[in-house]
Amino acid sequence: MNMQHAIQPARPAFLDGTAKKLLIGGKWVEAVSGKSFTTRNPATGEVLDAVAEGDAADIDLAVAAARKAFDGPWGRFKPAERQRLMLRIADLLEANIADIAMLDSLDMGMPLAFAQYMAAGPVVETFRFCAGQAVAIHGETLYPSLPGDVLAYTLKEPIGVVGGIVPWNGPSFNATWKIAPALAAGCTLVLKVAEQASLTALRMAEICLEAGLPEGVLNVITGYGETAGAALAAHMDVDKVSFTGSTETGRAIIHASAGNIKKLTLELGGKSPNIVFNDANLELAVPGAAMAAFGNSGQVCLAGTRLFVQRGIYEEFTGRVAEFAKALVVGDPLNPSTMIGPVVSEEQLNRISGYLAAGTAEGAEALAGGARLTDGALANGYFIPPTLFSGVRDDMKIAREEIFGPVISALPFDDVDDVVPRANATEFGLASGVWTNDINTASRVSRRLRAGTVWVNGYSLMDPAVPFGGYKMSGYGKESGAHHIEEYLATKAVWMNTQ
Ligand code: ADP
Repeated sequence: MNMQHAIQPARPAFLDGTAKKLLIGGKWVEAVSGKSFTTRNPATGEVLDAVAEGDAADIDLAVAAARKAFDGPWGRFKPAERQRLMLRIADLLEANIADIAMLDSLDMGMPLAFAQYMAAGPVVETFRFCAGQAVAIHGETLYPSLPGDVLAYTLKEPIGVVGGIVPWNGPSFNATWKIAPALAAGCTLVLKVAEQASLTALRMAEICLEAGLPEGVLNVITGYGETAGAALAAHMDVDKVSFTGSTETGRAIIHASAGNIKKLTLELGGKSPNIVFNDANLELAVPGAAMAAFGNSGQVCLAGTRLFVQRGIYEEFTGRVAEFAKALVVGDPLNPSTMIGPVVSEEQLNRISGYLAAGTAEGAEALAGGARLTDGALANGYFIPPTLFSGVRDDMKIAREEIFGPVISALPFDDVDDVVPRANATEFGLASGVWTNDINTASRVSRRLRAGTVWVNGYSLMDPAVPFGGYKMSGYGKESGAHHIEEYLATKAVWMNTQ
């Protein structure tokens, strides 16, 4: 609890007290309605700058600007020109890591050290990886078996105007996962950022313009989901929506896409199993299992929140994870030693607190954490300590529903045949973890888990080269890796009858 001793780093000049505007067609403009709303620092409750409240009218303007850019000069950019531009953006983002990380930290409460890692690593490197992909787009040459001299080939073309809709849990990274593949593929983008944390994407958009991105290629709308988000999802001139967020909103977006049969990429919720066998290396598995669920205050779709532990080590392992949890420094995100910051908003705080109460009411025991922290300076922020529930049954609310907070439900298991069906008994299928020193167990369990990612003896490993995306109600389509760009491309078959 280190709020008092924090040395406060400099605030970005971007936070200058002026209301932040929308980016439409290369210009910073107020919302058509003239409305704005304020965004808060969840560590202190302090109001940060106001942002424009975009709505359907602003979405219309942004989509028109994106269409104009797609039909205009951007459509004629060669892949190598897109690559050069993206590498310039990456360099400028790298030069501004301090700003980007601070905005992420102030706006959503991410510990600054983690925000700096995310900006320097995943954000910048995803732009660089996607820049490489821009010059690697290619189709196939095909030889149909029809009589005569017939040849066919495929063209990979940008899908058109894309709507990106992102949540608040990693503002710079979420924006990157929509902007970078869209630019690499030659699409244009209208990005609707989350109302809880709008600032970083606006700063990143400034950087994109500074790097020379032509007007209208990237448009950024701040505003609420039910208004601006819904208008973008339903817009008849948007060719594709790439959405990251809750399964419930994902379902609404599927409905909204029906109007013009939009293509979709959906990265939704999770309740991922993390399975620890008796023979696991506990020196790795204890911190690994803890941070799989506590990192970013558990506000991560891929969090390993169902911790299955084999009976032979259950007591020892849960005891050690509880000790690890209690030792994590919770507090001011700007303090370099802070490991766990606040949760993003009062609404999330109340939601998570409801789950903590439900866990106890259903008979689970909190070996660590269990209730909101209100000591000293923490009282003004939204702090939930890392919480480990033991004595959890598979049918309890805390074992079934996505909490999106730093909460682990520990569940004992007997063997592979006991744990695999239980791990798979969820509507979600985003990610999973397996901890064992037996390669046969690792391989068998990895194949049987119904999830888009399996980590063996690790968790949360991400790299721009490796695809990520869910099974079942965690969504469809992949982000990251070569698949990421593929999602923004359409395939055209060209037939050549050459006789
Ligand atoms: P979370 O619970 O993580 O906030 P949401 O799915 O509610 O997840 O929000 C993710 C993003 O989707 C945010 O940008 C939000 O504004 C937007 N959103 C919410 N509701 C809708 C909707 N009905 N249509 C389109 N976008 C929406």
